[in-house]
Amino acid sequence: MPTRKKFVAGNWKMNTTLAEAKALGAAVAKGVTDDRVTVAVFPPYPWLTAVGEVLKGSPVALGAQDVSSEKKGAFTGEVSPAMLLETGCKYALIGHSERRHIIGESETFINHKVHTALEEGLSVVLCMGETLAERERGLQERVFQRQVYAACAGLTDEQFGRIVIAYEPVWAIGTGKVATPEQAQEAHAFVRSKLRLLYGDKIADSTPIVYGGSVTPDNTVGLMSQPDVDGALVGGASLKADSFLAIVKAAG
Ligand code: PEP
Repeated sequence: MPTRKKFVAGNWKMNTTLAEAKALGAAVAKGVTDDRVTVAVFPPYPWLTAVGEVLKGSPVALGAQDVSSEKKGAFTGEVSPAMLLETGCKYALIGHSERRHIIGESETFINHKVHTALEEGLSVVLCMGETLAERERGLQERVFQRQVYAACAGLTDEQFGRIVIAYEPVWAIGTGKVATPEQAQEAHAFVRSKLRLLYGDKIADSTPIVYGGSVTPDNTVGLMSQPDVDGALVGGASLKADSFLAIVKAAG
């Protein structure tokens, strides 16, 4: 039975003032005292350096909520992987449903971002998941297959070793409607079976697949009890240190 270390990440989205971000980062850093669970926080871009400072010396890693598909040059408003690495980031979130569905990022664009981020040395939290309409029509497995194949096309095994997959059903994000542990397990097991087909046993067994969508301290234990659920990507509940730390504890 493969053992994968649990991964819990907080996606702060477009929330927090600078002072709030520093205080939240400091409280999370203080509360995570061991490395039983890999913990990361994803503050807004402008606060990365400041939050990176307060995380120094703690096991909590820093991540960015997005990254450019390009390495440098005339791309106004974009932030490159190298810039993120200089702020202290280890991770970049790619393919979050808000970027797929609100900003309109395509599968090809997401694949391009994944390649650029990994080539430049970042690790990637790759988000994917079906909409409510897709689930109601029973299309979720087709969607997972398409999203995994498209986002990961062309990656080497070494690069795959720096990917965490986040299964986030769009209908569960920010809605208070969490997937049942069984629904999460079914989705994660399906995604892992596709990784096995594409990349073989080693990658399939070692890649963390975390669940995201209305995770709270109360529903964490049930989700984490599933064999293919390797952690959580937390939005709303990561904005309060107490609830985020309770989720980290429940995952450990
Ligand atoms: C997210 O945005 O990745 C997320 C899972 O949000 P929430 O926990 O608020 O549903």
